[in-house]
Amino acid sequence: MELERAEITVTAELDRLLKNTVDPKDKAKVGVKNQHQPERPKAPWTIEDSENLYRIQGWGEPYFSINAAGHVTVAPQGDRGGSLDLYELVTSLQQRNLALPLLIRFSDILEHRIERLNACFAKAIARYNYGGVYKGVFPVKCNQQKHLIEDLVKFGKPYQFGLEAGSKPELMIAIAMLNNPGALLICNGYKDREYIETAMLAQKLDQTPIIVLEQIEEVEIAIEAAKALGIKPNLGVRAKLNAKGIGRWGVSSGDRAKFGLTIPEIIMVVDKLKAVDMIDSLQLLHFHIGSQISSISVIKDAIGEASKIYVELVQLGANMKYLDVGGGLGIDYDGSQTNFHASKNYDLQNYANDIVAEVRETCSDKNIPVPTLISESGRAIASHQSVLIFDVLSTCEVRTDLPPPTTNPEHQIVRNLWETYESITPENFREAFYDANQFKEEALSRFKFGYLTLTERSRAEQLYWACCQKILDIAKREEYMPEDLEELEQIMASIYYINLSVFQSAPDSWAIDQLFPIMPIHRLGEEPTRRGILADLTCDSDGKIDQFIDLKDVKHVLELHPLEAKEPYYLGLFLGGAYQEIMGNLHNLFGDTNAVHIKITPKGYKIEHVVKGDTMTEVVGYVQYDVEDLIESIRQKAEQALLENRIEIGEAQRLLQNYEHSLSQYTYLAP
Ligand SMILES: *Cc1c(COP(=O)(O)O)cnc(C)c1O
Repeated sequence: MELERAEITVTAELDRLLKNTVDPKDKAKVGVKNQHQPERPKAPWTIEDSENLYRIQGWGEPYFSINAAGHVTVAPQGDRGGSLDLYELVTSLQQRNLALPLLIRFSDILEHRIERLNACFAKAIARYNYGGVYKGVFPVKCNQQKHLIEDLVKFGKPYQFGLEAGSKPELMIAIAMLNNPGALLICNGYKDREYIETAMLAQKLDQTPIIVLEQIEEVEIAIEAAKALGIKPNLGVRAKLNAKGIGRWGVSSGDRAKFGLTIPEIIMVVDKLKAVDMIDSLQLLHFHIGSQISSISVIKDAIGEASKIYVELVQLGANMKYLDVGGGLGIDYDGSQTNFHASKNYDLQNYANDIVAEVRETCSDKNIPVPTLISESGRAIASHQSVLIFDVLSTCEVRTDLPPPTTNPEHQIVRNLWETYESITPENFREAFYDANQFKEEALSRFKFGYLTLTERSRAEQLYWACCQKILDIAKREEYMPEDLEELEQIMASIYYINLSVFQSAPDSWAIDQLFPIMPIHRLGEEPTRRGILADLTCDSDGKIDQFIDLKDVKHVLELHPLEAKEPYYLGLFLGGAYQEIMGNLHNLFGDTNAVHIKITPKGYKIEHVVKGDTMTEVVGYVQYDVEDLIESIRQKAEQALLENRIEIGEAQRLLQNYEHSLSQYTYLAP
């Protein structure tokens, strides 16, 4: 059994290694001759080509795929239920005045994720003959939206799935929303006396709060509060493990981590509780080594260490019942099944198996009853359920047409560029690229010193871009793009202007370079002939997306279709259901997007809730403007202008009408 688990890891690791050793880029670097592919008539583009290109099976199974019409479909209940055509859904939602950008939440996906996580633990528990149960909790910080938490509590009921609060305000939500006796209410984060008392009193509301001590000061407060209230609380400790997480959240563990108790501090807690005869309150051991753990070996290390600590706490006389393994369960954003940061080299079942097997083994070695297992899986539960749909407003391409013929004698530099252009062949395109660059640089420096006219510089630049296009066309036909030309593809990429704020809707893509799968949701039977990056509505140069998922590493341009006149072009951003909504900000005053909750029905679907996005009145209100005052100010300015004959009465009326109307509208652009 051990072997089986190890095997999965090794294969994925090996896979990555292999991929690295036969790195196609290296081939180009060491000068292996790229075979020039003679231009064969290309087979027509198919749906399967789109599937492979956007890797939808890798990250989307079992929820997302492509239908014969070339549209993305959503099967919110996985393999078990019907599916919806996402493009048609978006079209019909727009007819209901739900403008883009639009966040669509599929509550069935949420339900399916909860079911799957619980089913995997149930299977592991049966397989390893584990004498205990699994009771997961959802960390509220991943997505605090009321409708989502309501759904979670409802769907979690059969599994006694509970909630985790990481702050005082989240505790307020969790206590009020949780109504499953038996489900756990894990209380994490910084705590003051009121937090601790409130959590303790929740015990009287038929709830099972467990107060996890994360700072040594919290022990005294808990002891005092328990005495004052006459309540026997359920306490836990969060351990700073030695086992290190890796990647972005690797700093969540280790002695210098922000949260948790070191081993000497845990011993202090045990001693203090013993001294006041409260040691039977200590029931839980918790750790959290970071989010999106890509490698199963890191998880195994941590479980190994934690289960040893657990056993020791039992032996020290604590009344241990629970082992809480925190978050970290990853999502395969790029579908590569590797330990790349946007992926993970294990699945839900491997995760459950490793936890169950490891804890069982450690406990049975010491003849100690196994604990109830808890995980605080947020990302893994909430990511898939929402899809963000946005439209493309316009595109901007690099112009690559040749300069018009001229009767004037050409400048030497321009003549050189003409020659370079004429002479580009599949045999010399890489040298030609260097030549073109050199001539362009020369043209620019001559211009600076006054030896080239503006018209000559313009012709030189036009020729340069024409050379680049010709070179790129040849390079693309090669089996692999030579590394020195990869940059060229980025430079030549089209800019797709999207009706979205990255800061509001995909903040992690800006803040920590997180990758999300992004693809068109229609026209997938048609070859995407353009290469583009996405630029958002904000006037911030960081407001762009130029990193996309790829099998190997990341790619810097996305394959897209040319816009068609008067036809909308819709893109979807997937797997963004965790963390993005609450971290999104109002940069440039772009507000919350419209959101809609969809539930699948035997006949199609039903709209459960519509959550309208912010209006301009709302966003200016966040920054303390009173709309009435703003309108009044415009009115007075218009009056003054009328008096001074700077504006006509009709114009003033129109201005005020537009102004007032805008304030009541969505902050994004109308089609
Ligand atoms: C953020 C957090 C989680 C959730 O982590 P995921 O990786 O999203 O599952 C769980 N527990 C604690 C203590 C956290 O801080």
